[in-house]
Amino acid sequence: MTHSDNGFFDNFGGKYVAEVLRRPLDELEIAFSEAIKDPDFIKELETIQRDYIGRETPLLFAETATKLLGGAQIYIKLEGLANTGAHKINNAIGQCLLAKRMGKKRIIAETGAGQHGVATAAACAKLGLDCTVYMGEVDVRRQQPNVAAMELYGAKVHPVTSGSRTLKDAVNEAMRDWAANPDSTHYVLGSALGPAPFPDMVREFQSVIGREVERQAAERNLDVAAMIACVGGGSNSIGFFAPFIDKANPRLIGVEAGGIGDGIGQNAVRMSGKAARDGIMHGYKSRFLLDEDGQTLQTRSISAGLDYCGIGPQLATLGRQGRVEFTYARDDEALNAVKFFARNEGVLFAMESAHAGAEAIKLAPTLPKDKAIIVNMSGRGDKDVFITCPVFRRDEWLAFLHAEIDRLESDTDIHNAKIMGETK
Ligand SMILES: *Cc1c(COP(=O)(O)O)cnc(C)c1O
Repeated sequence: MTHSDNGFFDNFGGKYVAEVLRRPLDELEIAFSEAIKDPDFIKELETIQRDYIGRETPLLFAETATKLLGGAQIYIKLEGLANTGAHKINNAIGQCLLAKRMGKKRIIAETGAGQHGVATAAACAKLGLDCTVYMGEVDVRRQQPNVAAMELYGAKVHPVTSGSRTLKDAVNEAMRDWAANPDSTHYVLGSALGPAPFPDMVREFQSVIGREVERQAAERNLDVAAMIACVGGGSNSIGFFAPFIDKANPRLIGVEAGGIGDGIGQNAVRMSGKAARDGIMHGYKSRFLLDEDGQTLQTRSISAGLDYCGIGPQLATLGRQGRVEFTYARDDEALNAVKFFARNEGVLFAMESAHAGAEAIKLAPTLPKDKAIIVNMSGRGDKDVFITCPVFRRDEWLAFLHAEIDRLESDTDIHNAKIMGETK
């Protein structure tokens, strides 16, 4: 099942939206299917992927890690080397180019932790589009570094004050805006979910990862036994898996956030556990962590990007069919994977991607040396200093934060403010 049948992947997917959103979704579907068949659009996309995103991203042989683990050869797709530090820019650039082609001048997006907001803000800056990012007020407060980056890129960050003031409220607000302004505005959704055509479209824009891997693996004559990716909403994994879905091999393994335990509210495991149910939310049918009243359950993960109650409909179907195997990694296993690949390969995984790294550490020793496994490092870990430092060096980090506060409250701050005032 490489793409949807009229928006559905078997039972999952669809377009469960209010009447006012049907027309913009239908128009988007037509514009997208025309664009990806247009050689001019593809050429423009490939040029910006090369010059702005920095594609192709390397496929690294993790030689020391392989030796230490003593089994299959481990390869890492360094997607975190993409401009802005993660795979999300592939989708943001693709959708913004499409919006331009459709004559839209204004972009809106939802964001939770802020990674998708940053990618969309950067894409809009590059392509000269007006950008508004909806973000729950609670997240705005927690994720100031990303809010600052979005504003530097020229985006307006709109704090959402309804409901729990987090991601799902931001999605609702973005959909409301789109319904009110369908002619001027395109809504850039951040993962391979939501109403059709978003799951197909996001997969297509992310499948550049998988197509590069297919070529890179063939060039080196790798005998690939398994491909491993972390799964939040599912965009990096479905893009990485895309060219292989219709083949019997390699094994495709999705790694969810195991959090701190099996209990309700302790993880974000939708597929490999028993807690999730079929449901409809945010315009699509899939597997969700819901209570008996159909309300979303709390989720928990050390990685903000995997901390989400739903999963893209195509992955839900591929999981049910057995083509994609699902497992999970706990927070501490992901932290250990960050350390392991940093020390042994000089590669700093994002916390999300480290869940895939943790599975590679478990799987490699069980496979013969002439086989390869490929891990998608969906992002790099620079963004995670506020997560990793309090764990790895708590006291030093606390002292650093205190010193920073002192510095800001001292005259230096006034001095800096003056410099900015003078250069305005
Ligand atoms: C957002 C994010 C994820 C999770 O999103 P998917 O849509 O499942 O890919 C994974 N890794 C990184 C680095 C992210 O920023």
